[in-house]
Amino acid sequence: MTPLAALLLRRIAATGPISLADYMADCLLHPEHGYYTTRDPFGAGGDFITAPEISQMFGELLGLCLAQSWLDQGAPAAVTLAELGPGRGTLMADVLRATARVPGFHAAARVCLVEASPTLRGVQRATLGTHPVQWFDRAEDLPEAPLYLLANEFFDALPIRQFTRQGDAWAETLVGARDGSLCFGRSVPAPIAALAHRMADTAEGDIVELCPAASAIMQAIHVRVSAYGGLALIVDYGSWRSRGDTFQALKSHKFTDPLAKPGEADLTAHVDFEVLAQDAPAYAYTSQGALLTGLGVHARAAQLAQRLSGEALVRHEAATHRLTAAQEMGNLFKALAVLPAGCPLPAGFS
Ligand code: SAH
Repeated sequence: MTPLAALLLRRIAATGPISLADYMADCLLHPEHGYYTTRDPFGAGGDFITAPEISQMFGELLGLCLAQSWLDQGAPAAVTLAELGPGRGTLMADVLRATARVPGFHAAARVCLVEASPTLRGVQRATLGTHPVQWFDRAEDLPEAPLYLLANEFFDALPIRQFTRQGDAWAETLVGARDGSLCFGRSVPAPIAALAHRMADTAEGDIVELCPAASAIMQAIHVRVSAYGGLALIVDYGSWRSRGDTFQALKSHKFTDPLAKPGEADLTAHVDFEVLAQDAPAYAYTSQGALLTGLGVHARAAQLAQRLSGEALVRHEAATHRLTAAQEMGNLFKALAVLPAGCPLPAGFS
């Protein structure tokens, strides 16, 4: 049994079953035993691999998309260049390298990273070297300024609540205990105000998920982009309207029982982009494959390929395919742009 499992079982024995959101929050970010607080989980030797770790092109293209939008919006003098959940810092490093040649952009941009894990803050510091960077605990604390923001595989790590429809009410998925082990259970059905709009498109027994933390973070983004300008690019796996049980655990690149080893497996849920876009001043939505293709990934891939041969060339071609192909990440991953009202669509979204 993991130390966190023992701790959760004691808590459940004392105060009763907990929501999936409380379970996820502790599994991922418990100060001593949390998955992200205790390790660097990325890469071939870790539990999962993300787009910036697959290819430098991902960060280069998204960075240039942000810089183009900054130019389109009149190149404001003091802006925030932010990333939510930067992992190893690879994406921001690629963004900074690619945008170094955009005149004035680095001088205007203050790099702000929102990261909850002290371990990963250390990795980010090492990756970004001497570039001045400031860390924040929460997106809500980002400066009041034009906001150019990236978030890749961040929202899928935020705690969700999950509900099953029963009549006109919803039973919430809970984590309880049976025979000394964690187990799933359900609350007594009750009406849920935040799910009133899902009565029309769901039937008895359907499962829907809510991510309260995501809505609060998006509010902070919408307010800044609307008041000061900017562009937020959010990439994650998910769809426009959540349906079904998407709560999952990954360990060593394989799906595993999410209750088996709390604190030692990555827990995620699909992102509901409809909720992220709610109240945005303006937005655009497409697939990761379409966005990268629109931003010129194939031309950039061909350019990089000229310098490669043998094994490295094979890896590079496989990486391009993995990021863009419909049956790989191209369709499963979606991209949302939040932009000021009346602003032209960002590159790659038309
Ligand atoms: N964007 C990176 C890493 C994705 S993993 C990449 O694409 O490789 C999720 C990241 O979000 C990790 O850095 C994790 O520590 C961070 N994170 C998770 N929940 C968070 C929260 N509530 N607040 C701030 N950071 C969080």
